[in-house]
Order: sequence, then structure tokens, then C-alpha cells
Amino acid sequence: MTDIEKKQERVPVPQDWTYAPAPESREIVRIAERYGHFVGGEWLEPSETYETISPATEETLASVGQGTDEDVDHAVAAARGAFADGWSALPGSERAKYLFRIARILQERSREFAVLESLNCGKPIKESRDVDLPLAAAHFFYYAGWADKLEYAFPNRRPKPIGVAGQIIPWNFPLLMLAWKIAPALAAGNTVVLKPSHTTPLTALLFCDVVRQAELPPGVVNIVTGFGSTGAALVKHEDVDKIAFTGSTGVGKWIQRETAGSGKRLTLELGGKAANIVFDDCALDQAIEGIINGIYFNQGEVCCAGSRLFVQESIYEPLIAKLKQRLSTLRVGDPLDKNTDVGAINSRDQLEKIEELVQSGIDEGAEIYQAPCRLPEQGFWFAPTVFTNVAQSYRIAQEEIFGPVLSVLTFRTPEEAVEKANNTPYGLSAGVWTEKGSRILWMVQRLRAGVVWANTFNRFDPTSPFGGYKESGFGREGGRHGLEPYLRFDE
Ligand code: NDP
Repeated sequence: MTDIEKKQERVPVPQDWTYAPAPESREIVRIAERYGHFVGGEWLEPSETYETISPATEETLASVGQGTDEDVDHAVAAARGAFADGWSALPGSERAKYLFRIARILQERSREFAVLESLNCGKPIKESRDVDLPLAAAHFFYYAGWADKLEYAFPNRRPKPIGVAGQIIPWNFPLLMLAWKIAPALAAGNTVVLKPSHTTPLTALLFCDVVRQAELPPGVVNIVTGFGSTGAALVKHEDVDKIAFTGSTGVGKWIQRETAGSGKRLTLELGGKAANIVFDDCALDQAIEGIINGIYFNQGEVCCAGSRLFVQESIYEPLIAKLKQRLSTLRVGDPLDKNTDVGAINSRDQLEKIEELVQSGIDEGAEIYQAPCRLPEQGFWFAPTVFTNVAQSYRIAQEEIFGPVLSVLTFRTPEEAVEKANNTPYGLSAGVWTEKGSRILWMVQRLRAGVVWANTFNRFDPTSPFGGYKESGFGREGGRHGLEPYLRFDE
């Protein structure tokens, strides 16, 4: 052995490359002990309250109003008043100024919103900071740009606002869903009553502060918090002209039945069971990143998550080996830690739903692999999971799990991939991984999904319409298409 080689032996080799904690400070957020409903620009004292918690620690964050029929009625009256009292008649260029202002305030206060979102929702701070907040601000910027151009967006159709929009949103992207709903409604000249999910009301309540800061006329935006019964009161209210709902297919179907024949306009953005299809000519390492992002982004609590992975048989083994290796590098834990990749599950109910479906996968004969990670004892957690040996008939291949759980299936030909991918009651999104442009186009024409990503996944942009087919709902949000549900046309 030479001297140099001997010296190299003595070089200390670090044994532990684990990340040191990098927590984002909570100091930037001031959470009130108790919140009412935001109606007509004022805080309305609630008659009943409930407690909203942090899903990562189960600590109580605040007391929040449980909206009654009467509260909803006040909010709708305030929205109607603001609609009639000038907002709908305001020139688009004036409405745009308010929307630009909201967008800029969201940017300025983005750290505060991101911390609060991660606290109340459980999502990793790097996602709320780098995805939810920039996209929420971008939606307001984008629709601000349309507010004075509606005549050009819909030439010769004389677009007019509809009136009062009732908007019901879920817990997986609380502020972003608020932006998706409120920005186009206001740009088109409507006023709104929005109900956030009962598990994640805090960023919507902080948004009321932005509404005041932007000096939006009172009553244009009203927020009533509460459980499903509050949403139901909004759906049934006779003076609401349009309902926009994002959530489960079950509740969406109920809303459709309830609004049938009422004259209310309706858009539904419901569940999904997206196929992420990987061909053997793809760039494998990029595809692995796309698969990981497709299903573990936001703990898989994403309606368009790539929860069914279809792998061409010829690359099955190398792909699964790489996927498992990549899974083992995901950091699960404190949502406020800047290194965290996978945060907390949003609620105990959701965790139980995931556990039940995962157990069904094991019982039906699928093979389970879970990332080796230590889950915190307090709070709601689920380890990133991959199921192989999955048959199309298994519940884990059919039902929306809404958690960090991937079901892997295989195919041989493009025709087989299309047939299997479309074998679902849903039709929200899909992904295709291949180096061949012609194959991408061939697949896109045949996949029954509102959005198809090619060599990427979970990319969002306010200019792109988003929405589903079949049981994933109808209507589009985003883009010029997203304005249409908030307009009537005197043709
Ligand atoms: P829900 O559909 O129950 O909730 C979505 C929103 O609707 C919430 O604000 C909810 O209030 C409200 N709501 C509930 N019942 C009614 C009603 N009868 N009338 C009007 N509004 C109502 O979804 P969950 O939160 O219960 O989640 C269940 C499943 O739904 C998930 O596991 C997932 O599969 C799917 N889901 C899909 C989403 C998507 O983006 N497409 C988003 C969230 C869930 P409250 O919070 O008080 O229940």
C-alpha cells in the first residue's frame, strides 16, 4: 500500500448525513383566540363556535364560528346589497385595481400566509411558500387583467355578471382554492359568500384582513365558516345565483340534486384517480421525480394526484427499484420545517379513511412498501406508501384515497395503457412519460381527462383551464374559460 492510500484511510468519513432541523418561525403570524364571520366588511359575532387545530400537533389554534342558516342569510344579504349598490356597475378597470391590490398584498404578506397555511393544514412550508402562495397571488393578478377585457374575451356576447356566488372550498389547498374561486368571480363583477372547510378556516379568515387592507367595498367578499351544514345552507339559499364547489364527489352529487330546477348556475370540481403512464422510452430519472411529485406532493391530498401509476412492463423492475430508493429519501415530519417533503394528514377522519383503504389493499392481495421513516407520536401521519401487484378491481385502484399512497399497475401497449387509464369513473387529470412527441399526441387524444401533463406532473398556471370529465365534475377554473361560469350573456 502506498503512503497516499494510507493517508486516505485516515480521512474521517462522516457517518450521519441527516438534516438538522430548519423550522420556519411562527412569530410572523398572530392568531386571534376567537373569530366570527366576515359579513359586509365587519366581524359578525357567531352564535356557536368550534375549535380549529393544527393536524401536526393536535394543538388548538383558535375558536371559529359555526355558521348557522341565519349567518348565511346575513352574508347573502350583504353580498346582494354590495352587488346592487355599485360593484356590478363599476367599470372593469376599477374592479381590476382592487384585484391587483389584493394580489400585491398577498405577495407582501406571503410568509405570514404560508406559515398559517402550514400550521392549520399540515402541508410542508416549502409547498405553501413556493406553490400555494405564489399561485394564489398569480390568480388575482391574472383575473385582474381580464376585468376590463370581458367584451374581448367573449366578443359579440355582451357579458354581464350573474349576481351573488356561493363558493364552497375544501381543506387541501385552502387559500389557493379561495383564490381560484374569488378572483374570477370579482373580475366578472359578482359578489361572493365563501365557506372554507371547517378544518382549515384560518387563511380565509386572514384573507378578510387583506380585503379590508385593499379597501374592497363592504359586502363584496363575505366569509362564513362552519361545517357541511353551513355549506348546505348556502347551497339552498334562494338569493344565491351560482354555486361553485370543490370537494368530494358525494357532496357534489348532492349539490347537483339540490340545485336542479332552481335556476342556480353550478360548477363542480370533484375527485380524481389520475393515471400517470410511464413508457419504456422515457427519461427514467425525470419520470421518477414526476411520480414522486405526482403522488406525495401535499401528502397526496390532491384531487389530480397521480395515484395510479401505469408502468410499461419492460421497465417495471428498474423503475420500481429506483422508486423505492427515492421514497426512502423523503423526509416526513414537522410541516414548518423547511426540509420537510411530506407533512401531516389534514384530519383524523382523513387519516382513518387512508388507513381503511390501505388495509383493503393488503387484504385484497397487493404488496405494500412503505418508506422507512419515524412518524411523530402526536398528530395525524401516514408514511409514503407504494402498492405493487395491484389488480384493476382492487379498491386502491378504483377509489380516491387522498393520501400518500400509490398503486402500481403495468401495461404492454399504448392501447392497453389508454384502456386501463380510462377505466375509472373519474376524469380529472393524467400524465404521460415518453420521449416520443407523436406518442404524447396520440395518448392525449384518447385519455378522458381534463388535464394531461406530458413529461411533468402537477403543474398549475392561472392561464390554464382546469376541470374534469365524468364524476370529476364539470366547468373549468383558470384561464379565460374560468370567467364564463361567472357571466351571463345577452345574445
Ligand atoms: P367534502 O366534499 O365533504 O368537503 C368539501 C367542502 O364542502 C367543505 O367545505 C365541506 O365542509 C363542505 N360540505 C360538506 N358537506 C356539504 C353539504 N352537504 N353541502 C355543502 N357543503 C358541504 O370533502 P371532505 O372534506 O369530507 O373529504 C372527503 C373526501 O373528498 C376526501 O377524502 C377526498 O377523497 C375528497 N376531496 C376532494 C377534494 C378535491 O379537491 N376534489 C378536496 C377535498 C376532499 P366541511 O369542511 O365542514 O365538511
